[in-house]
Amino acid sequence: MLRITDPKSFQTQAMADRAAGLTTALVPTMGFFHAGHLSLMRWAREHADRVYVSLFVNPTQFGANEDLDAYPADLERDAKLAAGAGVDMLFTPQRDDVYAPDHATWVEVPELGQNLCGLTRPVHFRGVATIVSILLNLAQPSMAVFGQKDWQQLAIIRRMARDLFIPTRIVGRPIVREADGLAMSSRNVYLGEAERAQAPGLQQGLKHIAALADAGERDAATLKQALADFYAEHVPGGEVDYIELVDPDAIVPVDALTGPTLAAVAVRLGKARLIDNLVLLDDSEG
Ligand code: AMP
Repeated sequence: MLRITDPKSFQTQAMADRAAGLTTALVPTMGFFHAGHLSLMRWAREHADRVYVSLFVNPTQFGANEDLDAYPADLERDAKLAAGAGVDMLFTPQRDDVYAPDHATWVEVPELGQNLCGLTRPVHFRGVATIVSILLNLAQPSMAVFGQKDWQQLAIIRRMARDLFIPTRIVGRPIVREADGLAMSSRNVYLGEAERAQAPGLQQGLKHIAALADAGERDAATLKQALADFYAEHVPGGEVDYIELVDPDAIVPVDALTGPTLAAVAVRLGKARLIDNLVLLDDSEG
């Protein structure tokens, strides 16, 4: 596995792969790999001739009081895991090499970024759309692979790629979970023992309202209240940031379910802010 830190060298290498007629896949990450990251890399390995992983804790997607400086990291462990997943090139740039001191260009998808995580993280999705644009311009990959755990992020990147005619196929992959249902996240290391024990309740609550929807409940307010009640009982240490039902593509809240609807939640448990989601009335295969 080739390790590259210089953006221009990454671009030159990626351009050479393209010129050789190879299909390429990029997996953007912030590192501290878990099975969720590895599932994206393995999918890429199966679908592209060359697999690139970027590992960059992007400062512009963190708010002033967030965990930028505390974000977990273990570069050598990550490099071994990426090599084991068949990654060809690991790109680990320095902050100053990505953002010039007078960096002045931002990519925003405001309509999709204002709800859910955008409510409490106002600069987050601007930072995400900007760094993903930068990475797509560097790698110019045939495809880029993202997890559905960050559903709103995926919806924003899809819309951005469509609107800007970016010639990369955006691929979304299912959430990888611990055996007890907790969605894997690099931030799960922030959970204390008692918090970790309650954390699987997030998904259990989502499944609970999925069953209510399947049984015929269509009123969004009723379903959201049922989820809030479930968390009050089963995740008593959690502080709900949001519980919302939105259109899966537009990320706009719905009053009533008329088709597949994304149930999305963010809950603070101690130092961790956990997110999870589930599509209600899902009509897709698998
Ligand atoms: P991160 O390093 O947290 O920025 O995540 C990098 C990529 O991995 C993003 O596309 C995430 O959506 C994806 N990802 C993170 N956690 C999971 C998970 N549990 N299952 C699937 N994909 C994930």
